[in-house]
Amino acid sequence: MPKPKTFTSFREVQAELERSGSAIFRDANGFESLIIDNPYGIRYIHSYAEDTPFFLGLSDGVLKGSHCTGKGCGFLFATPRSHCMVCGEPTAWVDLPKQGRIHSWTTCHFGSEAFLKETPYNLALVEFDGAGSLLMVRLKECTESEIYVGMPVEARFDPKPKYSIADIWFVPVKGARR
Ligand SMILES: [Zn+2]
Repeated sequence: MPKPKTFTSFREVQAELERSGSAIFRDANGFESLIIDNPYGIRYIHSYAEDTPFFLGLSDGVLKGSHCTGKGCGFLFATPRSHCMVCGEPTAWVDLPKQGRIHSWTTCHFGSEAFLKETPYNLALVEFDGAGSLLMVRLKECTESEIYVGMPVEARFDPKPKYSIADIWFVPVKGARR
């Protein structure tokens, strides 16, 4: 039996696993690991509990945040929280604007299973008018070199929602000038 082929990048290992089911990964120190394709499945029945309105919102094309109900506070969270991180009072759901701006971003060359096929992809922190916290979300339809701090972006929703965070991403606002 011929030895599995050796690679020094994990992307090449992944491609070889697709082809033959096994590969050897040689790391920067020269250490060689045998890598096999080992499908593993689990059915997980998950309750979104108090996060339910957020995911139902995505399926309706609405991005929900939450705002503090405390008197004199009103802090707006772009990543919803059940209670205010400033004053501790309960929050209420609120619809966020469809448009925001890039606060920061990074390019992901690896990701969790749901996003692995999209790598490399851009992950952004988006800021919204009036909100005191940021939303971490994927940014599509642009390359890394086109992104800049303050870039206007707008939400897109999966027309076939799966009730997951993958149901939303942002794209640059067309015609916006730097
Ligand atoms: Zn508050």
